[in-house]
Amino acid sequence: NRPRVVIVGGGFGGTSCAKYLRRYVKDAEIILVEPRQTYHTCPFSNTVLAGMNPMDFIAHDYETLRTAHGVEVIHQTVSEIDPVAKAASLDDGRTLGYDYLVLSPGIDMRRDAIEGYDEAATEAMPHAWQAGDQTRLLRAQLEAMDDGGTVIIAPPNNPFRCPPGPYERASLIAHYLKQHKPKSKILILDAKDKFSKQGLFMQGWEALYPGMIEWVKGSDWGGMGRVDAGQKTVYSMFDKAFKGDVVNLIPPQQAGEIALRTGLANDDGWCPVDQRSFESTMHKDLFVIGDASVAGQMPKSGFAANSQGKVCAAAIAARILEVELPEPSYVNTCYSLVGPDYGISVAAVYRMQEGQIKSVEDSGGVSPGEVDAQFRRDEARYAEGWYQSITSDMFG
Ligand code: FAD
Repeated sequence: NRPRVVIVGGGFGGTSCAKYLRRYVKDAEIILVEPRQTYHTCPFSNTVLAGMNPMDFIAHDYETLRTAHGVEVIHQTVSEIDPVAKAASLDDGRTLGYDYLVLSPGIDMRRDAIEGYDEAATEAMPHAWQAGDQTRLLRAQLEAMDDGGTVIIAPPNNPFRCPPGPYERASLIAHYLKQHKPKSKILILDAKDKFSKQGLFMQGWEALYPGMIEWVKGSDWGGMGRVDAGQKTVYSMFDKAFKGDVVNLIPPQQAGEIALRTGLANDDGWCPVDQRSFESTMHKDLFVIGDASVAGQMPKSGFAANSQGKVCAAAIAARILEVELPEPSYVNTCYSLVGPDYGISVAAVYRMQEGQIKSVEDSGGVSPGEVDAQFRRDEARYAEGWYQSITSDMFG
């Protein structure tokens, strides 16, 4: 009897887990369920918004996973999981029994978190925090905006997908505006009082886009009260209005809906796991990786999801092969482009310490503050190299 592993979600976590599981257990039946035929990565989607790359640049398909790695890929949505019967139901009516199930469903937006934020608002004020149609929509709005317009970016509180992402986005939109609509402005209305790599970003903004980006911390403007999507207006808690010509509202998030529906999430909407194996603390033989999981000090990033996919694959392999669970080590680097030739990064190595994933002392850090232009250029090239290597690790 071949052991069957069903993996739900073909993004950073799911593809990495499928591919490495195949390496560890040659005869396992591995089924990946993902509705989309084409997966668009969020990493480098900010370069698409800025017109530096076409949509194709961030598009990937599942052919090689199928043909070279023997993963059965089913393009369906998982609508229900029964953790007791150990079965997953698909939208087309099929039911897949499993020995182990891995969920990497990413995030969903918390629709109830902001007054006035409904389905129509996601069109009028695209989040573009899941890449694809939302990326196209935000790009089209930026292209249609007049010179002299205001772009509002409203990032949420922690934790959320990709902590440096909103600030890379502000940077690359500024790069686009500087060339094509130089009288325009970017207003970042943050929920937070500080953000990832803040000093480095602000230094880069000063150097590349002086006066174009204004960042307002949460305690200064009061934080998000409500929105009026039709008017493209954001209101603070004190009902102060901020009207934009383009509004990129990035709402608070939670684990992908299927994880919540299966009862895997805590009150905050994220899924607690045994951080050594990523097995859910709620149900046995069910694993949650990537953004949806609570993974100690690791950020919600694609690199982290890839690393967790490998650790989870090793944990499942250890169960199947009846060998001892290896002691995992985890890794993450988040590159951000402040401009096409201006890269910065934050990196860390993690290990289990006192039952939690914690960064290893002196194992990482951020890019230095005082360096020459060549150093920033080099990091921008490393960012591209990282993208090529991680996407070939997932899809190649
Ligand atoms: P995803 O990659 O989102 O994959 C989830 C998949 O599950 C989706 O394909 C979805 O269709 C599928 N799914 C959901 N529900 C179901 C269901 N019920 N049935 C079947 N399938 C389902 N990270 C980095 O490391 N580096 C970066 O430079 C970086 N840049 C970013 C820039 C931006 C603008 C953003 C928004 C994010 C960025 N990230 C970056 C973060 C990264 O995109 C996420 O952390 C990563 O995608 C998480 O992987 P995941 O597997 O958890 O989810």
